[in-house]
Amino acid sequence: MSSGIKNYIKKGSLKIRKSNDSFMIFRDIPVYIKDPLPDNVDILQVLTQVEDRIPIRLTNGIEGFYVGFFKEFEERNINAMYRDGAIFVTNEQDNNDDMVDDLIHEIAHAVEDLHAQFIYSDNRIQSEFIGKRIRLRDLLKANGYDVDDIDFSESDFKQNFDDYLYQDIGYPVLTSLSYGLYTNPYAATSLREYFASGFEEYIFGDRELLKSISPALFNKIQEIVLDG
Ligand SMILES: [Zn+2]
Repeated sequence: MSSGIKNYIKKGSLKIRKSNDSFMIFRDIPVYIKDPLPDNVDILQVLTQVEDRIPIRLTNGIEGFYVGFFKEFEERNINAMYRDGAIFVTNEQDNNDDMVDDLIHEIAHAVEDLHAQFIYSDNRIQSEFIGKRIRLRDLLKANGYDVDDIDFSESDFKQNFDDYLYQDIGYPVLTSLSYGLYTNPYAATSLREYFASGFEEYIFGDRELLKSISPALFNKIQEIVLDG
């Protein structure tokens, strides 16, 4: 058994502590609840699920979690973000799983930040991502969508590509067209979202599906989760 696996098992014994305005998870990372959560969301259960699934050493880059409404959410049409060691998630959550999902997705961005060199230096994930983008372009074209003005070989986030997926194609169509190409069509947005969506699937979804659809991404995430 590698030390990574041992850590993974050991961290299950951590206890979430509560003080006046915050909770502590992963021993010493505060979770501040700025705005109230809906009644059907049980924050202790949510935090316990997150703590049970994420090896504590993957949280090294995180300094705090903030739950509530932040005006950047409205400005950028998002409901969660990771920035400079802080994770922000909306208090508008449908249920526990919805919130666990959001938290794990943003933790993925923190993990990516911390392990960027390891994740990307061999170019395997980039190749897999670009290959899928090209395949997506061909699928869209074959289904009558205009692909001429869109750069599918770009791996960074571009607002016009995000708008294209969200507004021109629409997620219902994208979901059915990209079936078998991505575990979640949002993964097509950028290389960073490809990683975060894969991490989310690995931790809180169908690990075998990820392995069959995105083998390079799966292997890298597996190495990070088991051994850091
Ligand atoms: Zn993201």
